[in-house]
Amino acid sequence: MSELPPCPKCTSPYTYEDGPMLVCPECAHEWAAGSEVETAKVITDAVGNALADGDTVTVIKDLKVKGSSNVVKVGTKVKNIRLVDGDHDIDCKIDGFGQMGLKSEFVKKV
Ligand SMILES: [Zn+2]
Repeated sequence: MSELPPCPKCTSPYTYEDGPMLVCPECAHEWAAGSEVETAKVITDAVGNALADGDTVTVIKDLKVKGSSNVVKVGTKVKNIRLVDGDHDIDCKIDGFGQMGLKSEFVKKV
């Protein structure tokens, strides 16, 4: 048996599972199992390597820069990336372009 988390409302330890939900018998609070569990999201590059803050990647596809006619050319090296939440899950600074967001699917770890 995996240990169930205590009730988030009254901290009762007597929670039990009811299908996908966890139920507290003391205050009748119900919540979705797993919602209290922090799962680290793994961001991977185009070929499935896990990326981490500070990694260096190269761009594998010409990328249009939003709001300008500039293009980040394929092969551009991007140093010291920072992983963030969102559609563009890499925050970085590219020489000549400045701060911008990239999609992890368009980069490859060096
Ligand atoms: Zn409770």
